Amino acid sequence: MFKALVVEKDEDGKTSAAVQDLSLDDLPEGDVTVAVDYSTVNYKDGLCIGPGGGLVRNYPHVPGIDFAGTVEASDHDCYKPGDKVVLTGWRVGEAHWGGYSQKVRVKAEWLVPLPEGLDTRQAMAVGTAGFTAMLAVMALEDHGIGKGPVLVTGASGGVGSVATAILANLGYEVAAVTGRPDNADYLTSLGATEIVPRDTLNETTKRPLEGERWGGCIDAVGGAMLARVLGQMEYGCSVAAVGLAGGADLPAKVIPFLLRGVNLLGIDSVLQPYDNRLRAWQRIAKDLPMSKLETMVQPATLSDLPRLGDEILKGQVKGRVVVDVNG
Ligand code: NDP
Repeated sequence: MFKALVVEKDEDGKTSAAVQDLSLDDLPEGDVTVAVDYSTVNYKDGLCIGPGGGLVRNYPHVPGIDFAGTVEASDHDCYKPGDKVVLTGWRVGEAHWGGYSQKVRVKAEWLVPLPEGLDTRQAMAVGTAGFTAMLAVMALEDHGIGKGPVLVTGASGGVGSVATAILANLGYEVAAVTGRPDNADYLTSLGATEIVPRDTLNETTKRPLEGERWGGCIDAVGGAMLARVLGQMEYGCSVAAVGLAGGADLPAKVIPFLLRGVNLLGIDSVLQPYDNRLRAWQRIAKDLPMSKLETMVQPATLSDLPRLGDEILKGQVKGRVVVDVNG
């Protein structure tokens, strides 16, 4: 037997989450069984644990959109027992039982071998949010980063914290947008050189173009803030759009694209091909200072998850929550 956080739905459509004992026979089909060490709490996990359950495809369900652990059994040539692996994406934790469990069974093609230089806890301190931040950095690099600072929105969150630390470590000036002034010292310690109060970017303006302020942007917020930032980009520079913590509507004008050649790059971490995932994890091991990563982490166990799922949906989580599923 092993423990997992199981979300169930009753006849009235009400969902509830509790830690339960499961057996290996309960696990879904797959060619690799992994003993999980750590998982994390991401925005999507909040949705899957919470009462809406919008992303969950089937009940009972084990959430957890990412995990890192050790292969216990494998029917696939690429993996053998004892291999350290990490998983993000592929609708694990939404359509397939995920990482809030001491054991998981998944398709081999969804896994990535843990890169040298990262242990399973560090991999999950990074997790889906940090992996996505790295994809965004890579997308900005591919398109070219300008002279001005790189703006990071939703900077105290998971994506924003890791993006700030990676960009600063690569030598870029980072302007961190936050709605929580108390987090200024935290963001500065991650390498931000400028703190931009959220209010100053949240208002819409009638001017489709403002002064050229940013040489790039990693945007975890979307909505009115993204629309405003598009008009502040340097000529020919790019915004890597990652999330919608501030809303899904984009009240933008087409002018920044036409008159300033701004690029809006969509970042999707879920269906990344294997080679990209491997490259991103190897870059994380190389370009993210582990001492800074440690300062982002708050530890949790399976029984903390219902509370933390609620907090991340309210935008109250700072940095990365690492869930010790055996704790
Ligand atoms: P977090 O909740 O950890 O961080 C989001 C941050 O955004 C908050 O910490 C807060 O930062 C800011 N924020 C929250 N609410 C608002 C608001 N109403 N207006 C403006 N800013 C707000 O989430 P993650 O960093 O894990 O994820 C961020 C987004 O990215 C989510 O929408 C998530 O779904 C998405 N995402 C997308 C992925 C992809 O593949 N494209 C993968 C992973 C995440 P502060 O207090 O500093 O302002």
